[in-house]
Amino acid sequence: MYTVAQLVGGVWGAGGDGGELVVRDPADDSPVSTVPVATADEVGKATQAARNAAAQWAATAPAERAAVLHRAADAVAAATEELAAAVTAEMGKPLADARGGVEAGVGTLRQYAELAPLRGGRTLNGEADALDFLTPQPRGVVAAITPWNDPVAVSCGLLGAALVTGNVVLYKPSERTPATGWLLARALDQALPTGVLSLLTGGPEVGAALAAQDVDVVAHVGSTATGRAIAAAAARTGAKVLLENGGSDPLIVDAGVDPLWAAGQAAMGAFANAGQICVAVERIYVHREVAGDFVAALARHAEALRVGPGRDPGTELGPLVDRRHRDHVHGQVAAAVAAGARALVGGEVPDGPGAFYPATVVTDCRHDMPLVREETFGPVAPVVVVDSFDEALRCAADSPYGLAATVLTASMSHAQRAWRELPVGTVKVNAVFGGAPGGAAHPRRASGQGFGYGPELLDEFTATKAVHIEAPGGGHW
Ligand code: NAD
Repeated sequence: MYTVAQLVGGVWGAGGDGGELVVRDPADDSPVSTVPVATADEVGKATQAARNAAAQWAATAPAERAAVLHRAADAVAAATEELAAAVTAEMGKPLADARGGVEAGVGTLRQYAELAPLRGGRTLNGEADALDFLTPQPRGVVAAITPWNDPVAVSCGLLGAALVTGNVVLYKPSERTPATGWLLARALDQALPTGVLSLLTGGPEVGAALAAQDVDVVAHVGSTATGRAIAAAAARTGAKVLLENGGSDPLIVDAGVDPLWAAGQAAMGAFANAGQICVAVERIYVHREVAGDFVAALARHAEALRVGPGRDPGTELGPLVDRRHRDHVHGQVAAAVAAGARALVGGEVPDGPGAFYPATVVTDCRHDMPLVREETFGPVAPVVVVDSFDEALRCAADSPYGLAATVLTASMSHAQRAWRELPVGTVKVNAVFGGAPGGAAHPRRASGQGFGYGPELLDEFTATKAVHIEAPGGGHW
């Protein structure tokens, strides 16, 4: 059992007068963590304390900040097993995946430690004796509000980029993975100067109190509804908002591809992390020519997955994060079935403890069904059969979201059309996951705004200052 503590103004164990939350293991409902809840007053005091620590950290040389981040990455790496176990206990992910998330987080911290000191700006010469230069400066106080689905990797991205560019950070992890956030903050804090990182815990009301503070940036990774509430709050304070939000990513399966290979891709995209990945495959448009073999193979993949608690070696499909989320997932599946779709595999809520939900393949879907159009965030593969690549592209593009999309095709011209025409931040051709380390993501519309990853995130956390210097009295130097 984890006993989470907050970190405010450099003091561990501060505050928590807002009560206590208990997080339960989604595999068996046993209690995992007790968590203090910050009051709005504590959030205000933490923001003030962070503001007081901002100038000194901003004035620390970039190379020194980078060295600190390297040491912080060492501390996180040393805590890998502890962090992975906490992720699995709190949100159910298979342990090997949880470990992979920590390793990805450590990699991101190191990448930002390497890249940040190399950043600079342009120089210009307007007159012989004048010099103009542009230089990045820290924005000040960053509120980082994060989700539960890949808690270490996502948090390391925001925290690493914000800290190494000279910002102080108020970190609010998800109320579903607070012990994970606490262990991560503890590791980072070992290397950071006192007061540079604060940890506030609790539910949405703590996030809302934080987003309403007089901070310089609110960076949120999470649902679209929350992102919109944060944008509205930040509009009142003038804080810059960075939003990496929900999606309903399409997978297009073109005529002429191997349907067995395509089914493997679809299964990985829809069922990994029980579908709880922002860029999971949420809807499949398959060409009629390959649809029969594709659906049969996808069903075999769904049936073959080994279901169990994430801590058991060999588990491929853990539980969903909690029963509230399971109700949401099953509600969408049940509504689609009631509207004429067919649950070919899965689609039933199992008996027993925890929040398990089976890998589910839903056929005879229509593009207008909420299961297809909305974010499900569960192990569900809804299949829509189309008659042409044009129809697939049209359906894929017709979404309020704009996160990512995948197209499986052997046609170069179709691949080219897909990346040009799909109105999303990331297009993947012939692989549902992957991409080079350090890749950026620039979501559109309901999926968010601003770069959430990659070197470009360093730019988001700095403000560029333009400096113009002339010799005094209009003379020469
Ligand atoms: P969520 O938005 O409900 O919660 C995320 C964080 O926001 C939590 O810390 C929560 O306490 C806080 N929060 C909730 N309401 C708030 C409010 N009104 N004001 C301020 N903060 C508030 O999201 P979640 O359920 O934790 O995460 C799942 C969602 O995250 C999915 O939609 C998924 O697609 C998305 N996600 C997106 C990305 C990406 O990079 N685009 C990555 C991971 C997850």
